[in-house]
Amino acid sequence: MYCKNCGEAMNDNQAICLKCGVKTGQGTAFCSNCGNALPENAAVCLNCGVAVKGAEGDLAGKDKVTIALICFFLGGLGIHNFLMGETKKGVVKIVASFCFGLGSILALIDFVKILMDKYVVDPDKLF
Ligand SMILES: [Zn+2]
Ligand SMILES: [Zn+2]
Repeated sequence: MYCKNCGEAMNDNQAICLKCGVKTGQGTAFCSNCGNALPENAAVCLNCGVAVKGAEGDLAGKDKVTIALICFFLGGLGIHNFLMGETKKGVVKIVASFCFGLGSILALIDFVKILMDKYVVDPDKLF
């Protein structure tokens, strides 16, 4: 595992990076899997192919108010997920909306997490 803030190699059980002091999992500058430097707002590491998870409350560089509003009004269609590079979550919401009408419930959960800065951008997750 590598520090996502400075790219330093870390043990899996380390809570903070000993080089930069940032909490494990915080930061988006480096791949946590291979330590490769990432382009800004990259959804996938170009070196190892692993999906890049955002830090809590980090909305892939998007504005919180904008994403919250889009999530509230268009969330059932997963528009906010697509904007943040989360294609899988977006597709799941569309399917859930058309099949069971559940997309807006999933969107509401996202909406609350976004407002509370608890939302984690993860292109690998389905919801
Ligand atoms: Zn570090
Ligand atoms: Zn990588």
